[in-house]
Amino acid sequence: MSTAAPILLTPGPLTTSARTRQAMMVDWGSWDDRFNQLTASLCEQLLAIINGSNSHYCVPLQGSGTFAVEAAIGTLVPRDGKVLVLINGAYGKRLAKICEVLGRRFSTFETAEDEPTTASDVDRLLSADPGITHVALIHCETSTGILNPLPEIANVIAQHGKRLIIDAMSSFGALPIDARQVPFDALIAASGKCLEGVPGMGFVFARKEALSNAAGNCHSLAMDLHDQHTYMVKTGQWRFTPPTHVVAALHEALLQYNEEGGLPARHQRYANNCQALLDGMASLGIRSFLPEAIQAPIIVTFHAPKDPRYQFKDFYERVKAKGFILYPGKLTQVETFRVGCIGHVNQAEMRAAVNAVAEVLQEMEVLEI
Ligand SMILES: *Cc1c(COP(=O)(O)O)cnc(C)c1O
Repeated sequence: MSTAAPILLTPGPLTTSARTRQAMMVDWGSWDDRFNQLTASLCEQLLAIINGSNSHYCVPLQGSGTFAVEAAIGTLVPRDGKVLVLINGAYGKRLAKICEVLGRRFSTFETAEDEPTTASDVDRLLSADPGITHVALIHCETSTGILNPLPEIANVIAQHGKRLIIDAMSSFGALPIDARQVPFDALIAASGKCLEGVPGMGFVFARKEALSNAAGNCHSLAMDLHDQHTYMVKTGQWRFTPPTHVVAALHEALLQYNEEGGLPARHQRYANNCQALLDGMASLGIRSFLPEAIQAPIIVTFHAPKDPRYQFKDFYERVKAKGFILYPGKLTQVETFRVGCIGHVNQAEMRAAVNAVAEVLQEMEVLEI
């Protein structure tokens, strides 16, 4: 039985390093030059991850990831624009909900939760509706772990002369995205996912021209990325109270990211985690929901055991008592549970988590997998 803090195998908040948590032990003032240098350095480093310093601005925003998604749509889609929302899970549905709440015109295209959107789908949809100005896409749909083919979709959108908004919340920092090759107006991510910071701020990479032309678009004062950016350029400060501890932790997490070897190393570690998890669960007879070809190394959805003695809540509590936090499934049709591969964990922890699952299934006398 573990008495230490449990390991989070969840897609954010996730397990952070002691060094990252230690960076939060200082109270920073928002006028402090050194704090403002932290913010500037953060934005610079984040842009470098996508090779975007020439083409894009990095605009940080207080709040969870959804705040930044809402801010990107509200700021970058003109009030008379129309968004095509590509959906194969809960986060795609959330994009559509945001458009609805903000009063932006939109249409949706939905595929099954185990079926990626394709570039030819998007080609056909854009040809059929010339009124569409923007396309919104989830890169890795965290509700299953499915990867959508971003570069191919981005190219088709560019060929049609339309604008792309990418929710890359759960993939940024781990899966390669190159702004010099993938055309987009906005790419959105957050502190508490693959960069292994703590939750509390999002950031939007906005194409410079798109952001400069976006004055007055936004429905909201606090969510206005154009305003946030303009103020930050002028003063070096956040427009409203900054999440100082979150910024300091993310800065420290980025130092470790670079020490580890940057994106290729982070990608490899998560891919190893994912493989160790898939192999271990397969040895218990537990099947993953997605075929490996469309499985991103971020989070894995597993079919729940069929045995009536299996109940997620009981399973979750017992695995937690052994030191691991799992994640419930998010599918409506099939009973599943999820295990994250991201965070400050490696293959040893993934194997230990599989062992804990094996012991718990035995304790629960779950025989029929
Ligand atoms: C985590 C996540 C978000 C943001 O969710 P919050 O709960 O607001 O942090 C958005 N999109 C995807 C794909 C995510 O994985």
